[in-house]
Amino acid sequence: MAETHRGSCFCGAVEIEVKGAPEAMGYCHCGSCRSWSAGPVNAFTLWKPENVKVTKGAALVGKFAKTPNSDRQFCTKCGGHLMTYHPPFKLMDVYAATIPTESFKPGVHVNYAETVLRMKDGLPKMKDFPAELGGSGKAVAE
Ligand SMILES: [Zn+2]
Ligand SMILES: [Zn+2]
Repeated sequence: MAETHRGSCFCGAVEIEVKGAPEAMGYCHCGSCRSWSAGPVNAFTLWKPENVKVTKGAALVGKFAKTPNSDRQFCTKCGGHLMTYHPPFKLMDVYAATIPTESFKPGVHVNYAETVLRMKDGLPKMKDFPAELGGSGKAVAE
Protein backbone atom coordinates (compact mmCIF):
# COMPACT_ATOMS: atom_id res chain seq x y z
CA MET A 1 0.00 0.00 0.00
CA ALA A 2 1.48 3.28 -1.11
CA GLU A 3 1.40 6.09 1.40
CA THR A 4 -1.15 8.80 0.62
CA HIS A 5 -1.12 12.40 1.79
CA ARG A 6 -3.82 14.98 1.28
CA GLY A 7 -3.60 18.70 0.96
CA SER A 8 -5.65 21.69 -0.01
CA CYS A 9 -5.49 25.30 -1.07
CA PHE A 10 -5.83 28.12 1.45
CA CYS A 11 -9.66 28.06 1.46
CA GLY A 12 -10.10 24.30 1.08
CA ALA A 13 -12.14 24.39 -2.15
CA VAL A 14 -9.37 22.54 -3.99
CA GLU A 15 -8.01 19.32 -2.57
CA ILE A 16 -5.12 17.25 -3.83
CA GLU A 17 -3.64 13.89 -3.04
CA VAL A 18 -0.09 12.57 -3.45
CA LYS A 19 0.76 8.86 -3.50
CA GLY A 20 3.95 7.02 -2.78
CA ALA A 21 7.23 8.82 -2.23
CA PRO A 22 8.51 12.07 -3.73
CA GLU A 23 11.44 11.96 -6.16
CA ALA A 24 13.24 14.71 -4.22
CA MET A 25 12.70 17.30 -1.50
CA GLY A 26 14.54 20.49 -0.73
CA TYR A 27 14.58 24.26 -0.78
CA CYS A 28 14.65 26.60 -3.78
CA HIS A 29 16.15 30.06 -3.29
CA CYS A 30 15.43 31.51 -6.75
CA GLY A 31 13.87 34.91 -7.29
CA SER A 32 10.83 33.40 -9.03
CA CYS A 33 10.00 31.16 -6.07
CA ARG A 34 10.42 34.13 -3.77
CA SER A 35 8.11 36.33 -5.81
CA TRP A 36 5.49 33.60 -6.33
CA SER A 37 5.51 32.27 -2.74
CA ALA A 38 5.92 35.65 -1.05
CA GLY A 39 8.47 33.94 1.22
CA PRO A 40 12.28 33.95 1.34
CA VAL A 41 12.58 30.32 0.17
CA ASN A 42 10.27 27.68 -1.28
CA ALA A 43 10.21 24.22 0.29
CA PHE A 44 9.56 21.82 -2.59
CA THR A 45 8.63 18.18 -2.94
CA LEU A 46 8.97 16.79 -6.47
CA TRP A 47 6.61 14.07 -7.70
CA LYS A 48 5.98 12.09 -10.83
CA PRO A 49 2.80 13.69 -12.19
CA GLU A 50 0.91 10.39 -12.12
CA ASN A 51 1.32 10.36 -8.32
CA VAL A 52 -0.43 13.72 -7.88
CA LYS A 53 -4.21 14.02 -8.21
CA VAL A 54 -6.67 16.88 -7.78
CA THR A 55 -9.47 15.19 -5.83
CA LYS A 56 -11.82 18.17 -5.34
CA GLY A 57 -12.45 21.51 -7.06
CA ALA A 58 -10.53 20.76 -10.27
CA ALA A 59 -12.61 23.40 -12.11
CA LEU A 60 -11.28 26.05 -9.70
CA VAL A 61 -7.61 25.34 -10.47
CA GLY A 62 -6.02 28.25 -12.31
CA LYS A 63 -2.73 27.99 -14.17
CA PHE A 64 -0.07 30.52 -15.00
CA ALA A 65 3.09 29.89 -16.99
CA LYS A 66 5.40 32.91 -17.11
CA THR A 67 8.02 30.67 -18.74
CA PRO A 68 7.67 27.24 -20.41
CA ASN A 69 9.62 25.71 -17.51
CA SER A 70 6.97 26.23 -14.84
CA ASP A 71 3.21 25.76 -15.04
CA ARG A 72 2.01 27.25 -11.74
CA GLN A 73 -1.29 26.05 -10.31
CA PHE A 74 -3.43 27.87 -7.78
CA CYS A 75 -7.00 28.14 -6.49
CA THR A 76 -8.94 30.81 -8.38
CA LYS A 77 -11.29 31.28 -5.42
CA CYS A 78 -8.73 32.11 -2.70
CA GLY A 79 -5.50 32.60 -4.67
CA GLY A 80 -3.79 29.93 -2.58
CA HIS A 81 -0.92 28.16 -4.31
CA LEU A 82 -1.01 24.41 -4.88
CA MET A 83 1.85 23.20 -7.04
CA THR A 84 3.98 23.88 -10.10
CA TYR A 85 4.53 21.47 -12.99
CA HIS A 86 8.01 21.56 -14.56
CA PRO A 87 7.67 20.18 -18.14
CA PRO A 88 11.45 19.93 -18.79
CA PHE A 89 11.88 17.72 -15.70
CA LYS A 90 8.46 16.01 -16.04
CA LEU A 91 8.04 16.58 -12.31
CA MET A 92 5.37 18.25 -10.21
CA ASP A 93 6.51 20.47 -7.36
CA VAL A 94 3.92 20.20 -4.62
CA TYR A 95 4.85 22.84 -2.05
CA ALA A 96 5.71 21.19 1.23
CA ALA A 97 3.27 23.54 2.99
CA THR A 98 0.42 22.24 0.77
CA ILE A 99 0.79 18.66 2.08
CA PRO A 100 1.42 19.11 5.82
CA THR A 101 1.26 15.42 6.77
CA GLU A 102 4.05 14.45 4.36
CA SER A 103 7.21 14.36 6.46
CA PHE A 104 9.50 16.95 4.87
CA LYS A 105 13.07 15.65 4.60
CA PRO A 106 15.06 18.19 2.58
CA GLY A 107 18.10 16.85 0.75
CA VAL A 108 19.39 19.85 -1.17
CA HIS A 109 19.21 23.61 -1.62
CA VAL A 110 18.92 24.77 -5.26
CA ASN A 111 19.56 28.19 -6.80
CA TYR A 112 21.52 29.10 -3.67
CA ALA A 113 23.51 31.70 -5.63
CA GLU A 114 20.32 33.82 -5.49
CA THR A 115 19.64 33.34 -1.78
CA VAL A 116 18.44 36.11 0.53
CA LEU A 117 18.26 33.73 3.50
CA ARG A 118 21.35 31.64 4.22
CA MET A 119 20.48 28.35 5.89
CA LYS A 120 23.44 26.69 7.59
CA ASP A 121 21.99 23.21 7.90
CA GLY A 122 24.90 21.27 6.39
CA LEU A 123 22.91 20.19 3.30
CA PRO A 124 24.46 20.58 -0.19
CA LYS A 125 24.04 24.06 -1.68
CA MET A 126 23.76 24.09 -5.48
CA LYS A 127 24.62 27.24 -7.42
CA ASP A 128 21.59 26.53 -9.66
CA PHE A 129 20.35 22.99 -10.36
CA PRO A 130 21.98 19.54 -10.21
CA ALA A 131 23.50 18.47 -13.54
CA GLU A 132 20.91 15.69 -13.97
CA LEU A 133 18.22 18.40 -14.03
CA GLY A 134 20.04 20.50 -16.61
CA GLY A 135 21.92 22.75 -14.19
CA SER A 136 25.63 23.45 -13.76
CA GLY A 137 25.89 20.92 -10.94
CA LYS A 138 28.18 23.34 -9.12
CA ALA A 139 28.08 23.68 -5.36
CA VAL A 140 28.51 27.00 -3.56
CA ALA A 141 29.46 27.90 0.02
CA GLU A 142 26.79 27.93 2.73
ZN1 LIG B 1 -8.91 28.02 -2.38
ZN1 LIG C 1 12.78 28.46 -7.36
